[in-house]
Amino acid sequence: MHRARKRFGQNFLHDEGIIYSIVSLINPDTDMHVIEIGPGLGALTRPLLRNLDQLDLLEIDRDLVAYWNQQKLKGLKVIEGDALNFDFLEWAKDCSDKKGLCKVVGNLPYNISSPLLFHLVSAAQAIDEQVFMLQAEVVERMVAKAGSSDFSRLSVMLQTRYDMELVLEVPPEAFDPQPKVNSAVVRMIPRKDFNLNLAQWGALEKVVAAAFSQRRKMLRTNLQVFLERLKLSEIELKSRAQDISVDRYIEWARVLAS
Ligand code: SAM
Repeated sequence: MHRARKRFGQNFLHDEGIIYSIVSLINPDTDMHVIEIGPGLGALTRPLLRNLDQLDLLEIDRDLVAYWNQQKLKGLKVIEGDALNFDFLEWAKDCSDKKGLCKVVGNLPYNISSPLLFHLVSAAQAIDEQVFMLQAEVVERMVAKAGSSDFSRLSVMLQTRYDMELVLEVPPEAFDPQPKVNSAVVRMIPRKDFNLNLAQWGALEKVVAAAFSQRRKMLRTNLQVFLERLKLSEIELKSRAQDISVDRYIEWARVLAS
């Protein structure tokens, strides 16, 4: 019997209806190349494997890695490792040789969700879709639109790189042990029109971090060091970070990197 480990964010899904819905959203088929982050005891893994020829698992917990290695299931490749250090771009290179879609999926450990989402950005060019269960509050911030109180640094950075949709809300009762928070499933599809180079992405990180550094302050204060180059309108100078659109942040990043 595996005892859930808090330090690895282990809350195992057991609600069959929710499991069915998530697997349907991932929509596995035999040509698809999928990696599941954190299979745990296999709530998603087993139904996914029924419809895939090949499934890769990335798991940090040695006991669970041993468990999956013992199963000797056809088509399963078990990788022991920390998703925060894993080279998803290298993994995805394999996909370009195949005809199916390349997907990263998982019911993610909530304690590492933001750094993991940023880590995955570096592989977005090679990935077709990501389907993740996360803390509902995080998903709400990811998909929030400018003007909403949830609109944040996470919203701007991830909406620059992905089209995203909250596709399913999941209550704590769906898990064992139950988390203290609500959860939600998000679908993330890398934007086809993304064309920032590394310098522009770096400039976006800087300007967005500065803008949101003090949420209540006007941009006149938060963006002081950039004002000479950005030429904000009078209205923008008096605005707060959450009132500026993603497209406008992208324009500013292009100016700062030029
Ligand atoms: N997929 C299972 C389910 O839905 O029941 C388990 C989900 S549980 C919320 C998170 C899983 O991620 C656990 O299996 C945990 O050991 C694993 N995990 C935690 N941190 C990780 C990391 N840094 N890299 C890879 N896996 C990790």
